[in-house]
Amino acid sequence: MAIEQQQPLNAYIRVYSKEALAKARLLDQQRKEGKPMGKLHGVVIGLKDVIAYKDHPLTAASHILQDYVSIYNATAVDKMLAEEAILIGHLNCDEFAMGSSNENSAYGKVLNARCNSRVPGGSSGGSAVAVQAGLCMVSLGSDTGGSVRQPADFCGILGLKPTYGRVSRYGLIAYASSFDQIGIFAHTIGDVALLLEVIAGVDEFDSTVKKEKAPVWKEAPDQKYRIAYFKEALDHPGLDPEIREAILTRTEQWRQAGHTIEAIDFELLGYIVPAYYVLTTAEASSNLARFDGVRYGYRTKDKDLELTEFYKRTRSEGFGREVKRRILLGTFVLSAGYYDAYFTKAQQVRQLLVERTNLIFKNFDIIILPTAPTTAWRIGEKMDDPIAMYLADIYTVYANLTGIPGISIPLFGHTNGMPFGVQAMTSHFNEVSLLQFSHQMM
Ligand code: GLN
Repeated sequence: MAIEQQQPLNAYIRVYSKEALAKARLLDQQRKEGKPMGKLHGVVIGLKDVIAYKDHPLTAASHILQDYVSIYNATAVDKMLAEEAILIGHLNCDEFAMGSSNENSAYGKVLNARCNSRVPGGSSGGSAVAVQAGLCMVSLGSDTGGSVRQPADFCGILGLKPTYGRVSRYGLIAYASSFDQIGIFAHTIGDVALLLEVIAGVDEFDSTVKKEKAPVWKEAPDQKYRIAYFKEALDHPGLDPEIREAILTRTEQWRQAGHTIEAIDFELLGYIVPAYYVLTTAEASSNLARFDGVRYGYRTKDKDLELTEFYKRTRSEGFGREVKRRILLGTFVLSAGYYDAYFTKAQQVRQLLVERTNLIFKNFDIIILPTAPTTAWRIGEKMDDPIAMYLADIYTVYANLTGIPGISIPLFGHTNGMPFGVQAMTSHFNEVSLLQFSHQMM
């Protein structure tokens, strides 16, 4: 179906159809002339509107970046283009990737293609819906605290967040730099694996990318895994009982198939959402300081303002509510009187989580958790209650706090008609096992 006809879903902010068609024709001609094909020859890919594509607008779904045109490619974009991908458009998302429902976009909400009165999840809601509805073959999103895995879960597709340091963040608009990673939406593990192989790897523009071997995936159908899940996570009162049942029933089947399944104690669960929101808002308040109306995008129309007033007016008019809330929160936790009580504490929690996680992976190959405590909620349902929205991130932020890779695998259907999945994680840079595991379980 033509993307334009699907626009009620509002998955795309901008579609580059003419250009994509021209590229497709060119690739076709080159192939006929005998040019060897790239790994992504003709693959139609959508980009979350936080990933830079040279000479194309880039807005982060925010008014503050209206009319901004990127002057360079993200490294992931360069790598995909080098393999002959066709980049079809920029996809809707929560403003600056802040949110869990894609209702915080300056370009309007995105609808879940499975049920139009429900949210697609967020923040990469447009990226999920575009793949869900067949408006591109695969797409890229960004995952700072679940923004690829949770919308994948809500839309019934695969969503991978690679290890922190696997994919270059160069050209990805920063939300919280020590958490952000570009992630992948697709229907099959083969597609996830191929795209990951292409976009992964060292980059002179991002020193946090590690020199690890490219993750080349091969099926491993007979592998047996040692799988752990957190007791506290499955017993959490906020978890939909139907999701709990489905996951426990499935793990029982895995046990019967010869895998080891163990419920382990994880008493830190209650600290992860607070630690995540303290640290990410702190980083965001600093990262978003650059949007001041002088260097980028939107500038207040008010004339003759004194400089501080000019910044204030531009930022008040340019940023949406949720972004402002987070800048304020982040500024607060970093302020002199509160720094130790909040920021330092949260960093200590993060350190504890890393240590605990390393210990777990001494005895287990895989950790599984639900991806989200519920299926996709109704549009508007949580908009007046930011805390309820934040708490819905309870199962995803763990992987970003610790840097490990995580994937949401679409396995189930709920009696309310919505899909949901299970989330699997491995130790750092173990994406190949993660994909092998997921493939076996699908
Ligand atoms: N829902 C989380 C948040 O609002 C995750 C966002 C993300 O991963 N970009 O912060």
